[in-house]
Amino acid sequence: MKARAFAYARPSSLAEAHAAFDGADGDASYISGGQSLVPALAMRLQAPQVLIDLSAIPEMRGIRLEGESLRIGALTRHAETLTEPLIRAHAPLLAAAAPFVAHPAIRNRGTVGGSVALADPASEFPAMMLAMGAEMEISGASGLRRVPADDYFQDLYQTAIVPGEILVALHVPAAGPRHVWAFDEMARRRGDYAMVGGGILAERDGAVIENPRIALFSVGPTPVRARNAEAEIAGKALDADAIAAAQRALDADIDPLDDAEIPAAMRRHLARVLLGRLLRKLETC
Ligand code: FAD
Repeated sequence: MKARAFAYARPSSLAEAHAAFDGADGDASYISGGQSLVPALAMRLQAPQVLIDLSAIPEMRGIRLEGESLRIGALTRHAETLTEPLIRAHAPLLAAAAPFVAHPAIRNRGTVGGSVALADPASEFPAMMLAMGAEMEISGASGLRRVPADDYFQDLYQTAIVPGEILVALHVPAAGPRHVWAFDEMARRRGDYAMVGGGILAERDGAVIENPRIALFSVGPTPVRARNAEAEIAGKALDADAIAAAQRALDADIDPLDDAEIPAAMRRHLARVLLGRLLRKLETC
């Protein structure tokens, strides 16, 4: 199949982009890297009258430290997260997840903002925003607002972004020398969407783990923060008992769905195994 005919706009400011969306009476789609949207257009799962290309909006570009946080422009490509020194230094979990996102050709076009705006529950970066405690900078009718990751992911492909709004940047609290992290996923083949995956960011004081944030993906309709598991390791050394307790507690954190390929019970089991691996990795960071 091929896409329905559409008009094309390439605004050079957020104001122009919003005007283009309003001018189409909302029958428009923003496009960033196009790696999810273009297949959806080709299959006519989406058929907007107007495609609004965000790639020329300067505020959506660049990666820089702003005080205690790293501002990552929404148009940052997946491939840049693999190599950009500021991301490796201050958002190491994002850099650790990047090689697992799709394949090089897709990573060269796909954007971090596109992935977080789409919020596929099987995607790596949205869950890592949750693990890192990021804030999403969103442009809408009343200007710019920021939404913490804990409030941003609302339901299957549903986020705090309302139609017409634009994800402008991600603000990630900069990791420091006390931080430890781990990322892992289980996929049938490298580059496939994972059967289950996750990341942890925490601080370590000697042997003791503090302020852990655990986020898993492919275990429900949204990326999931594993708060019960976090409670089992916070303020403790990561010995075998603490890890086993966290794995048991994880059952209450996740609600995997049955699907044609993987039964929910199997995802639940894989998530427990994955958490054990992540916690053991974290211990040796
Ligand atoms: P687009 O395709 O341009 O847009 C996606 C959606 O978000 C659209 O609805 C669009 O309107 C909206 N949007 C885009 N940018 C914004 C914005 N700034 N503000 C508001 N709305 C916006 N992803 C993974 O995470 N893991 C994988 O393993 C993986 N494997 C893949 C394998 C294949 C074969 C393909 C084709 C894709 C795969 N992807 C995977 C998806 C890929 O990472 C996409 O690049 C990403 O999901 C979307 O980013 P994009 O910039 O291409 O967004």
